Amino acid sequence: MAEVVLTPETKALHEAMVAIVGPQGVIADPNEMAPYLTDWRGRYRGAAELVVRPASTEQVAEVVRRCVRERVAIVPQGGNTGLCGGSVPLAASAYPGRQIVLSLARMNRIRALDADNNTITVEAGCVLASVQEAARNAQRLFPLSLGAEGSCQIGGNLSTNAGGEAVLRYGNARDLVLGLEVVLPDGRVWDGLRGLRKDNTGYDLKQLFIGAEGTLGVITAAVLKLFPWPTATATAFLGIESPQRAVELLSELRAALGERITSFELMSRLSLALVLKHIPGTSDPLSQPYPWYLLAELSDNGKPQALNARLLEALEEALEQGRVLDAVLAQSEAQAEALWRLRDAMAEAQKQEGVSIKHDVSVPVSQVPRFIDEASRALEEAFPGVRIVAFGHIGDGNIHYNVSMADPVLNARLVEDPGPVNRIVYDCVSRLGGSISAEHGLGQLKREEIQRYKSPLELELMRAIKHTLDPHHLMNPGKVV
Ligand code: FAD
Repeated sequence: MAEVVLTPETKALHEAMVAIVGPQGVIADPNEMAPYLTDWRGRYRGAAELVVRPASTEQVAEVVRRCVRERVAIVPQGGNTGLCGGSVPLAASAYPGRQIVLSLARMNRIRALDADNNTITVEAGCVLASVQEAARNAQRLFPLSLGAEGSCQIGGNLSTNAGGEAVLRYGNARDLVLGLEVVLPDGRVWDGLRGLRKDNTGYDLKQLFIGAEGTLGVITAAVLKLFPWPTATATAFLGIESPQRAVELLSELRAALGERITSFELMSRLSLALVLKHIPGTSDPLSQPYPWYLLAELSDNGKPQALNARLLEALEEALEQGRVLDAVLAQSEAQAEALWRLRDAMAEAQKQEGVSIKHDVSVPVSQVPRFIDEASRALEEAFPGVRIVAFGHIGDGNIHYNVSMADPVLNARLVEDPGPVNRIVYDCVSRLGGSISAEHGLGQLKREEIQRYKSPLELELMRAIKHTLDPHHLMNPGKVV
């Protein structure tokens, strides 16, 4: 391998970083750095002098102190699966200053598990799936669950306030945290690693860092909530007429089954058709096509057969009256997995179909049908022949709403200038009291858009918090605010 030649400035920083984290913790080779500088979708490519990989909170703190002294910006990075360009540095053309990527990957220890307190204390670089597994080994559930769980990290999950497939029952990442340890932008360590369910001693500081996308400090560890491992799950795939039916059905099933409903996922026929077209080994679980589908999952303690029977009983009337057009209930774990594969493969199927303009939006659950109807009509009027792939966590009012044209030439033209499409979609979301980022965050992608949709007062408060904690604006510059 050719020797890497560093500028004198970078060489000095390299030496300082090696002195803190050891030679194995610093990457300066451009080829080795490349994966850290490009986001998951390949949409953003940034520039950094070094990738620094500390192995302890003290090392993170020392790295931050040194960088602040030299006025080097820090971009915290977890699994780099974020979908808004938050985890990669800005391009050199967009940021005149110096930057490093701070990867938390080496901080991957489970520090403690307190079964009676139902908590687990983990370092920020723990991969989500490994935290789920550690909980499972203690007959506990850590319920955060998302498509990228094999590579995303707890630090990234908390910094984006990740949502996923079990929010309906257990809430977002924000709801699953009891304590945090954070290295502040001046290098001091805030030890807030408390495992308390009750603590009314002033402002809840941890919530400031959750969802901050690395702009207010580096999360180094967290105390997370655990739940009893559910011994029974029941999974159903339903054909329905419309999103309105889905909302009505959710209300009915909640009345009958209460908190047992863990996931309630909506998908349009086109979303399913793309999965069937592109993902090998998938097949339509129902005997004929329906306009919309629901994937519902229940979980509980007790016997699986009993839960299946309860679900069937709750669906019986809706099936008889035609409010549910068709249904299949998984009879085994393998069948449930096959049904979930249809939902989980949706991002991959669309990637294979071609590029589209993606939106991750939320509105009150009751307004989802109106959002889909109004946005789709406005888009069809503005762009005749437009194709809409709508699916998502309808139980949380969160819809992934992706827009493209079937014709490749027209599609290339559409995606080249996403502004007019975004305006139609986001204005509709805003009219209905919704959010232009339900679960993925703002990153670089929506930093400008948010100026239009948050009130001036909210933006002023956000900037004031940022400036107070990070007066030199060195924590993940160019993201969020
Ligand atoms: P990164 O991408 O590395 O970072 C994300 C942000 O957090 C960046 O701004 C970064 O600077 C900051 N950050 C990372 N670590 C730290 C830290 N320790 N301290 C401070 N800041 C930090 N998201 C959902 O919410 N729900 C889904 O259902 C979902 N499904 C997905 C499916 C696929 C196939 C993919 C690729 C992504 C999906 N995502 C989903 C998006 C993504 O997985 C989440 O946003 C995830 O929480 C990001 O974690 P990460 O470790 O990859 O973070």
